[in-house]
Amino acid sequence: MKNEIIRIAKENLADLVGFAPAERFQKDDPIFKIFPETRTVIALGFRLLRGMFRGTEEGTTYYQYTTMAVENMEETIMPMASLKVAVYLESRGYLGFPQRRHEQIMKEADSTEPEVAYDAVYRGKTAENQMDFLKTAVKCGLGEQGLSGALLTPEFGPFVRWCFVLTDAVIEPDEMKKPSLCDGCKECMNACPGHAISDDGVVDPWQCVVYYNGANGLKNPFMPPDAFKDLPDRMEIICGKKPVTAESAKRILDEIFFYPPAQHAYQCSICGRACNTACYAHLEKKGVLSAKYKQPFKKREPWSFHKEDFEL
Ligand code: SF4
Ligand code: SF4
Repeated sequence: MKNEIIRIAKENLADLVGFAPAERFQKDDPIFKIFPETRTVIALGFRLLRGMFRGTEEGTTYYQYTTMAVENMEETIMPMASLKVAVYLESRGYLGFPQRRHEQIMKEADSTEPEVAYDAVYRGKTAENQMDFLKTAVKCGLGEQGLSGALLTPEFGPFVRWCFVLTDAVIEPDEMKKPSLCDGCKECMNACPGHAISDDGVVDPWQCVVYYNGANGLKNPFMPPDAFKDLPDRMEIICGKKPVTAESAKRILDEIFFYPPAQHAYQCSICGRACNTACYAHLEKKGVLSAKYKQPFKKREPWSFHKEDFEL
């Protein structure tokens, strides 16, 4: 049965498949609230094409990453693959329960998620039964947690998205990966245009959402020269040096409309996930990723606009 699940998943564009037994999870883990009879968690990992990052890397086109590496993965490819695995499990008499991330629901009352609009997030109790996607992926053996909080896989580094299928079938588990990729280089932190990642690797969600959406004018080809003209600290914001609070983040975000969101309200990434691309380039340069390519991911010196371009 395991081989058949892997075959179905891979036929439906999953690159990585991992299996974790229920015994690997604490008794109060959300998987048992969602489905108390869970015996195995199946993780499906999907590579994000390097080509999807090309536009943001070059500063040319920004829609491709959001539509193809976020929206289509989350709304089309990953649901289809997990449904097909679940259908197979149910055809064998077991239950198959696909689990996809829902970024518009969260348990925290004062946090946010950069990939969706801050005012589209439903905060509070409703998310208590959402799985911890990162920790569960690690338990399923897909990879390790990097300092930046990204999932790092031996094949594609941080260029992956993933979902799960819970089942009452007992399936031979995979080993968890021994952490070996993240070396604490901090290139993820240094690459963030909004300094959203602290030295100990904590991502400030409000700092991240502001700069994910393009508040740093030096890395935003769409920002008009008079952006944020009513904000007294506009140059600090534009240069990526403004520490924000939830309230000031909302004020800045209300003035950002540089690029339209994708159809399912996924915000366009103007930062181009610089934390992950820097990490990917670092791991690629070290030669530790198993998926190899003919040319390196980073081809040129990073481009940047100038502070003077925005002075009024
Ligand atoms: S960039 Fe370096 S420190 Fe950051 S997650 Fe990758 S390997 Fe770890
Ligand atoms: S690079 Fe982008 S996604 Fe990464 S922490 Fe910074 S703002 Fe957030």
